[in-house]
Amino acid sequence: MKKIVKFGGSSLANAEQFQKVGEIIRSDESRRYVVPSAPGKRFDGDTKVTDLLYKCYNTAVEGEDFIPILQEIKGRYYEIIRGLNLDLSLEDEFAQIEADFKAQAGTDYAASRGEFLNGKVMAAYLGYEFVDAADVIRFDKNGNLDAEKTDRLLSKKLAKCEHAVIPGFYGAGEDGKVKTFSRGGSDVTGSLVAKAIKADLYENWTDVSGFLVTDPRYMGATVLHEDAIFPVRKEGIPINIKNTNRPEDKGTFIVESTCKKPKFTITGIAGKKGFCSINIEKSMMNSEVGFGRKVLQVFEDQGISFEHVPSGIDTMTVYVHQDEFEEKEQQVIAGIHRAVQPDFVEMESDLALIAVVGRGMKSTRGTAGRIFSALAHANVNVKMIDQGSSELNIIIGVENRDFETAVKAIYDIFVITQI
Ligand code: ASP
Repeated sequence: MKKIVKFGGSSLANAEQFQKVGEIIRSDESRRYVVPSAPGKRFDGDTKVTDLLYKCYNTAVEGEDFIPILQEIKGRYYEIIRGLNLDLSLEDEFAQIEADFKAQAGTDYAASRGEFLNGKVMAAYLGYEFVDAADVIRFDKNGNLDAEKTDRLLSKKLAKCEHAVIPGFYGAGEDGKVKTFSRGGSDVTGSLVAKAIKADLYENWTDVSGFLVTDPRYMGATVLHEDAIFPVRKEGIPINIKNTNRPEDKGTFIVESTCKKPKFTITGIAGKKGFCSINIEKSMMNSEVGFGRKVLQVFEDQGISFEHVPSGIDTMTVYVHQDEFEEKEQQVIAGIHRAVQPDFVEMESDLALIAVVGRGMKSTRGTAGRIFSALAHANVNVKMIDQGSSELNIIIGVENRDFETAVKAIYDIFVITQI
């Protein structure tokens, strides 16, 4: 049995958390490969080491004195090292980082040092081999993960290691320069390692006991980086989300399929505020070949990603992130006029999208009916409805100000009334 264990920043924020992690790893011999994040927040209002590194590097690039911030970062690691009674010096590493910051080695390099240093501490603490992610995780010349090369390098290297610590979040490009994944990317590293070693299980340790039906922060998806799903899914390796502070809790299992019956019709409600909708009307648009592509090309040309595109017979609506869109609004509108000569273009801002998901929704009569009657009773006006034909999710657009009320109303009708 081989398990890969990934620990998030809050699980490694201080020596006390490190000790919990040490106990977890030592209590199960199959936990042989460890992927750490950088130290996270120790308390509310604290700053993650990764954020300090970004700030420190920006200060260096602006030609200002970055040494005090680097000292603060160093303090965070020495607090852990002392708390664990480790005989470990990071002086050489910090001297190198200082020189590299002066030489402007790049933002990705800077951010990656949080995981790099934490990997060194973790390896010393566990007595495991340290494997630098820059040697085994590779990106291609376009900056995308080179999955094949990574798998080859990782499996070759780890075949020789009984136990290893591989820092999360970064790798290197073809030019050898360090490159990171997007924020929260240590989850992806964990998944790549799991695939490479053909693990039986990928345990992802964090500060919640799995996915909640609806996260109180309404951003349930932040529990796991979405790109972490794909590498293990193809291999049939389950992911188990576990809580470092409550290791006895079973957590959530993410699996390809299961015959277990879900407890509730819905599995989760997630959503986000801060969208704009651009509604394009043109009669007979449904018979105009290439209409959708031309509209979306305008967004692509402006470097704006779209979130959602519901369409009717002669309307098409594009949902985009308000902060990405606002600056480029007029160029986009002009572009749409040029590209497809619409009858009308209308915009609306301050919208929220809510996704209701669940296997139990498939072939269950009345799910949509229950959702919308709950929203009507809660006095929420629904601006947009979309159900994919998989029947596994329903996306609803509401105004930002109705967001919390809407999520609560849906939660109540499917969960509270069923308990
Ligand atoms: N430390 C990085 C971040 O804060 C990556 C990670 O924790 O996964 O985003």
